[in-house]
Amino acid sequence: MEITHRQRKTRIVATLGPASTQIETIRALYRAGADVFRLNMSHGSEETITHLYKTIRAVEQEVGQPIGILADLQGPKLRIGEFHDGPVMLAKGDVFQLDQSPERGTRDRVTLSHPEIYDAAEVGMTLLIDDGKIKLEVTEVHNDRLITRVAVGGKLSDRKGVNVPDVVLPMAALTEKDRRDLALVLQLGVDWVALSFVQRAEDVAELRELVAGRAGVLAKIEKPAAVKSLEWIIGQADAIMVARGDLGVELPLEKVPGLQKHIISAAIAAGKAVVVATQMLETMIASPVPTRAEVSDVANAVYDGADAVMLSGESAAGDFPVEAVDVMNRVTATVEEDPFYHRLLQEHVPEPEATTADAISFAARRVAETISARVIVTYTSSGSTALRAARERPSVPLLVLTPREETARRLSLVWGLYCVKTDDAQDFQDMIDRACHLALVHGMADVDDRVVITAGMPFGTPGKTNVLRIARVNEEHAHYQGHIEKHH
Ligand code: PEP
Repeated sequence: MEITHRQRKTRIVATLGPASTQIETIRALYRAGADVFRLNMSHGSEETITHLYKTIRAVEQEVGQPIGILADLQGPKLRIGEFHDGPVMLAKGDVFQLDQSPERGTRDRVTLSHPEIYDAAEVGMTLLIDDGKIKLEVTEVHNDRLITRVAVGGKLSDRKGVNVPDVVLPMAALTEKDRRDLALVLQLGVDWVALSFVQRAEDVAELRELVAGRAGVLAKIEKPAAVKSLEWIIGQADAIMVARGDLGVELPLEKVPGLQKHIISAAIAAGKAVVVATQMLETMIASPVPTRAEVSDVANAVYDGADAVMLSGESAAGDFPVEAVDVMNRVTATVEEDPFYHRLLQEHVPEPEATTADAISFAARRVAETISARVIVTYTSSGSTALRAARERPSVPLLVLTPREETARRLSLVWGLYCVKTDDAQDFQDMIDRACHLALVHGMADVDDRVVITAGMPFGTPGKTNVLRIARVNEEHAHYQGHIEKHH
C-alpha cells in the first residue's frame, strides 16, 4: 500500500471527459493532486460513465486512498427551436416573438416550447439567449406567445440556450433524463450527486429523498432565485457549488465575485462543503500555462476559504489536463503556506453550536493549537463529526478514522480532512493506540508528538462524539497490532 499524506487542505475536483478517459490520465490527474473526479452527466453515454466510474475505482485501489466521485446531473435546458433559413440578425429595438408554434423560425419569431415560461412570464421580464449574448425584454404576455423588444442584439441561431433570470419557473430541477442518470450513478456507487437548475430548497429536498442517503447531495447555486433562498438551500444540501458559469449569465458578471464570498461564508457557517467552479484556468484548455488573472482567481477562492476548487473543460476536454491540476495544486498549496491565509480563515469560523459534537470539535482545535499537537484525530461513522471538525478550519491537520468506506470517499470533497478506513475502536486504550499508530504510519505525526483524539463512547454509536483525549505517540505505536485490521 502506498501512503500519501496530502498536506493540502483545499480539495481539487477534476471533471473527466474526452481528454481524460484513459486510466493513465486519470492516474496522472490523481497523482498531480485531484481528490475528487466529476462525471458530467450532460455528456457521455451510460457506457462511458460506467467506464469512467470503474476506472476511477481501479486507480483508488492502486493508490490505497479513498477517492471521491461526483455525478453532476444535467437538469432542464431551455432552448429555442430552429430557423427556416439559417441564423437571423436581431438589432436593438426590434420586436421579436417567442411562441409554441412548431413552425421553423424567421426574423420575426422562433419557437420556445417550454409552457412553464409562458405561465411565469411577466411584462418587463428579461430573456437571455446564447449564454446571455442576446437580451430580450418582454413587452406582452399571452398564453402561448411572448412579444419582446430586443435590448441587446446579435446573431441568433438554431437551438441556442435560454435563461430566464427574473422569475421562479414552475419547473422541477429533475428531468426524466436526470432520473435515469441518477438511477445509474447510484447503482454504480458515486459519492456525490450534484443538482443543476436549483431554484428553491424543495428542489434539493426532492433529490435528497430520491438519493436516500446513498450519496451526498450537492446543490449548484447558479440562479438568482437560489441566491435568494441560499440559507434554506444550504440547509437541505450536504454541499453547494458556486456555479459561476450560469451565475455569470443570469446575474451581472460583476456581482459574481462578491456572491462567491457570501456563498462560501454561508456554507462554512453551516458546516457544509463548498466548491468554486468554472473558468478557473480556462486558458489552459489550449495553453500549458495559465494567465496571471486565473492564478489569482484560484488563489482567491482558497483565501475565501472554499473547500474545493474545480476544473471543467480544462481537465475534461483540454490539451493540458494534468498540467491544469498541477497548477491548481501548486497555487492552493502556496496559499496555504501563507500565515495570512490562516488568519483570514479564522474570520469565517463561527461560534460552535450548542451540541456536544461542536463543543468537542471547538475544544479539540483550541487544545491542539495550545499544546502544539501535530494532528487532531477524529473517529466518525457517518462523517458528521468530521464535518464539524473541518468547520473549525484548524491550523492543525485533521486525520479522520472511519469504519465506512463511503464516508471516507464522501469526505474527500471537504476542507482539510485526511481519511483512513479502520474499524471502530474496541475500547479506550485501543482508541488511543490505533489513533497514534495511524497518525504515525500516515506520516501525520512522529514519535514523541502529541495528538488530540475525539471519539464517541460507546464506540460505534453514530452521532455520539463525547470524548477528547490528548495522547503522545511512542515507538511501540509503529508496530501496534492490537485490534488493527488491514486498514485498506
Ligand atoms: C456552472 O454553471 O458553473 C456549472 C458548473 O454548471 P454546468 O455544469 O452547467 O456548466
